[in-house]
Amino acid sequence: MPLHEGPRRPGEHRMSVNPFYGPANPVGDMAEAPPTHRLPDRPMAPATAHQLVRDELMLDGNARLNLATFVTTWMEPEAGVLMAECRDKNMIDKDEYPRTAELERRCVAMLADLWHAPDPAAAVGCSTTGSSEACMLAGMALKRRWARRNSDRYPGARPNLVMGVNVQVCWEKFCNFWEVEARLVPMEGERFHLDPRAAAELCDENTIGVVGILGSTFDGSYEPVAELCAALDALEERTGLDIPVHVDGASGAMVAPFLDEDLMWDFRLPRVASINTSGHKYGLVYPGVGWALWRDADALPEELVFRVNYLGGDMPTFALNFSRPGAQVVAQYYTFLRLGRDGYRAVQQAARDVATGLARRIEALGDFRLLTRGDQLPVFAFTTAPDVSAYDVFDVSRRLRESGWLVPAYTFPANREDLSVLRVVCRNGFSADLAELLAQDLERLLPELRRQPRPFTRDKGAATSFHH
Ligand SMILES: *Cc1c(COP(=O)(O)O)cnc(C)c1O
Repeated sequence: MPLHEGPRRPGEHRMSVNPFYGPANPVGDMAEAPPTHRLPDRPMAPATAHQLVRDELMLDGNARLNLATFVTTWMEPEAGVLMAECRDKNMIDKDEYPRTAELERRCVAMLADLWHAPDPAAAVGCSTTGSSEACMLAGMALKRRWARRNSDRYPGARPNLVMGVNVQVCWEKFCNFWEVEARLVPMEGERFHLDPRAAAELCDENTIGVVGILGSTFDGSYEPVAELCAALDALEERTGLDIPVHVDGASGAMVAPFLDEDLMWDFRLPRVASINTSGHKYGLVYPGVGWALWRDADALPEELVFRVNYLGGDMPTFALNFSRPGAQVVAQYYTFLRLGRDGYRAVQQAARDVATGLARRIEALGDFRLLTRGDQLPVFAFTTAPDVSAYDVFDVSRRLRESGWLVPAYTFPANREDLSVLRVVCRNGFSADLAELLAQDLERLLPELRRQPRPFTRDKGAATSFHH
């Protein structure tokens, strides 16, 4: 979201108000159209204001056709009702809304169990506004633990965090805001995420932790968390450096437990200190809710925890925000209760089936090369085949927009800036039928794209700033 500026010229532009929108008197009520960038002087009728806002929002894209986002765009009507009923509850008022607080606590307990905390009762965790806040909290805990262990050298020494160049932008923010050096493992050849050995080599006595991503937003692949832990075990044997791992499971921490039960990526690995997920991604809740969990109280320094009133006692909290809506947390509990393990497995499997099926269908068109196949996150990335020179991925993205599909195209980071891809995120609600319609639209465009004299030049810099 841009940091918005104020109005450039006073009275820049007034809204045009259809006289028919007035509630009672089409002439008198609409004597003065409200300004757009200044608080209007006078109130207007609620029905009129509602209609004006709705009219403008018609031009937003259709969320269900947005294949760029990981964030939930469909929930059951019952969930919508529950959220509307809870929209007046402030998550921080634990004493006023003790049942909402209790539901949050149950969600944390369920996730601790799902992610195999050695002692789920000892795991600590909290809800957040999303994974970005959860990652900030987890990063802070890593930094504080490192600072404690190195109090003879810090302040002074400069802490660093090791991760793949494919990390989501929230980790760049963390490093920037909290003054931690970001040490990035570059991509190499057909490896589009972190290499465990290369990550271990970047570690030193100032490394607060290593981030493993489940899975990468660039191509939907899972990073090899178990191999990363093994590489850090070997490092510890060689050097004595004991470096914790944080798993950024924004998407995958709600996919792998159901579809890849044997994959070792969670608290079963002793080196994994903390995990985050986005409740509003494959947790299947509308934005914004996220979760951060630490394997035990040792992993979360006590001095970062604040206490608020709760039923005459106090309740520990860890958050950047103070006030925050309770509705999303309630909706997360509803979804856990509603689906259970088997329900989540069925929903995520359906998304994976759509992703792998659509990837195969696109591969069969002959013009494209798949980088991933949707068999980890239900997400895949593809590029044009080597012999395609008439058009590029940016042309495909732009032309698909004509039919309403948002399929982002972007260029990879170091050392694969030569590679540009399209990415499709298959979420609950993007059905096999919708996927088939997308494939048909793409197929129909191909003859025209192939007849282009060359890829059309445009601002590829803007296209590459895509950061989901
Ligand atoms: C989406 C995402 C984030 C940021 O999560 P929000 O919930 O959007 O704040 C962080 N890391 C990864 C890997 C993601 O996919």
